[in-house]
Amino acid sequence: MNACPFCRIVAGEAPAEVLYRDDRVVAFQDSNPQAPVHFLVVPLEHIPSLAEVGDEHEEIVGHAVSVATTVARRQGIVERGFRLVVNCRRHGGQTIPHLHLHVLGGRQMTWPPG
Ligand code: AMP
Ligand code: ZN
Repeated sequence: MNACPFCRIVAGEAPAEVLYRDDRVVAFQDSNPQAPVHFLVVPLEHIPSLAEVGDEHEEIVGHAVSVATTVARRQGIVERGFRLVVNCRRHGGQTIPHLHLHVLGGRQMTWPPG
């Protein structure tokens, strides 16, 4: 069995509430939402974190950001605005070592983040 929880979702070996899927990314509901709208955009390819992203990943990272906005629009949070978060490694608060974009919306966000 795949050790990575998000690779398991990508492979259909673990359940997820999928909002969008194409040949490069999947977007699904976060199982512990921190806002009325909170979903993740995950490349199908296992990239551990932003620390491993290089020039060869420009296309997939750009596509993931574009899909984040597309799904956010469908979720009705673009007009008022939303937040895109990528946690990287320990100090960034990353808990799942497979690159993912958090999209949060539907409430007022605060700054600075914790
Ligand atoms: P991070 O702390 O940035 O690595 O974010 C991991 C996120 O994945 C957290 O917001 C978790 O709630 C979420 N999460 C963990 N496991 C699952 C899962 N099986 N399905 C959906 N979301 C998950
Ligand atoms: Zn993975």
